[in-house]
Amino acid sequence: MGIVLEKGTFIDEAKIGALLENVRTEPEAVRDILAKAREAKGLALEEVTQLMAVTDPELLEELFHTARSVKETIYGNRIVLFAPLYISNLCGNECVYCAFRSSNKELKRRALNMDEIKSEVTYLVNHGHKRLLVVAGEAYDSKHSLKYIYDAIEAIYSVKTPKGEIRRLNANIAPLSVDDFRDLKSTRIGTYQCFQETYHRDTYRKMHLRGRKADYDWRVTVMHRAMEAGIDDVGIGPLFGLYDWRFELLATLLHAKSLEECFGVGPHTISFPRIEPALGSDVAAQPPYPVSDTDFLKIIAITRLAVPYTGMILSTRENSEFRDKCIALGISQVSAGSRVDPGGYEESENKKFDTSQFQVGDYRTIDEVIRSLAESGYIPSFCTACYRMGRTGCDFMDLAKPGEIKNHCFPNAVATFQEYLEDFASPETKEVGEKVIAEVTDSLTGLAQERCRKFSELVKSGKRDVIC
Ligand code: SAM
Ligand code: SF4
Repeated sequence: MGIVLEKGTFIDEAKIGALLENVRTEPEAVRDILAKAREAKGLALEEVTQLMAVTDPELLEELFHTARSVKETIYGNRIVLFAPLYISNLCGNECVYCAFRSSNKELKRRALNMDEIKSEVTYLVNHGHKRLLVVAGEAYDSKHSLKYIYDAIEAIYSVKTPKGEIRRLNANIAPLSVDDFRDLKSTRIGTYQCFQETYHRDTYRKMHLRGRKADYDWRVTVMHRAMEAGIDDVGIGPLFGLYDWRFELLATLLHAKSLEECFGVGPHTISFPRIEPALGSDVAAQPPYPVSDTDFLKIIAITRLAVPYTGMILSTRENSEFRDKCIALGISQVSAGSRVDPGGYEESENKKFDTSQFQVGDYRTIDEVIRSLAESGYIPSFCTACYRMGRTGCDFMDLAKPGEIKNHCFPNAVATFQEYLEDFASPETKEVGEKVIAEVTDSLTGLAQERCRKFSELVKSGKRDVIC
């Protein structure tokens, strides 16, 4: 299919502007929208705009309550875990908020070689990770071009240890052409992720001064190229803090809608990065449009209601206490034990800011993150079943929508969490984890319950990678 996209046609700034100008927030209208949202069929942009304008504390709590209940109905208490793997901070672009920007002389540059990449992966596998996100700057020199990324992906998948291997590798790398995306697909990546940073054209121009990324249209059409090349699972997101969050949220939803119209399925995930301090960046230290915690929670709650079946990702940019609130309102995937500098896992003792992309807000180990999630009643899941069984794109949505999730996702979450408890957990985490698995299994019925019991026993008896 040849998708012809005219510049920015699906990000209609005039339409977004008109929506934001005509906002009403009568309590009754808001309550009607929340009643519709409870059916988990999504919301129109006009409805999203009304929810964005809610400030009354009582109404806001009703909004949060609705988001919590939709999240609970669709995802239950599962939360998927992953870790980013930064392989290189070499970059030819000039994004003013990022420590990796080419003019930053304070940053120590480093691109891991294949042996260093394998030792990072070994570290992560030996700490229980099954799902990674490979991340790199956008380098143009011949040694660190696309071939370097492909070699890195092969190196990551090649690592096999007695404790396991990486089962799903997602990628957050610079936008590619359709032909290059075809090659990327053949490397077996899971989700291709790329953030628009800001959908507001004029702000984009001011934030991206040089390099290929300075081209707004090349960036904003990236997911259409990826999907045209056959990559079913794509992940989008703005970088909150660069422009008005209301504009960014509406634009993100327009982006999702355009992908759904063109390819029959929207983005697999939406991420919610908020700007963090970055070495030598004034914009990162003082973002032009800072997003308050309350507004950030609103963004998450409204997104959950607008696109109920889309995965929502939060990274360690946020601190642990705040992350738990975000999870309850809609987040379905979090990173844990993250480092955002190349080589940062093996050398994790010294939390280095001079090679890092930004400052992380949550420095807990994966075991600490898992224990605290389990203490809050969540089942941390390392499940990668859908991708490995070919349930991607529309097929994944078919599974998700009619509530089939219960019979697949719960047993897979329990099986992978039980693996973690058997192979990696500290005694304290194991105790809390066993308790939460028992509670969740008891709360289920029928096939879901039967599978949870069976999978848990199989893993305890030594079997690994039990999936359905
Ligand atoms: N270089 C590629 C790109 O820009 O798309 C991919 C990797 S880049 C390291 C990943 C993301 O980090 C960017 O898309 C941006 O949203 C985010 N980022 C950059 N600077 C940041 C900061 N100061 N705080 C939080 N996130 C930041
Ligand atoms: Fe380079 Fe990406 Fe950072 Fe921009 S956000 S400077 S492209 S690593």
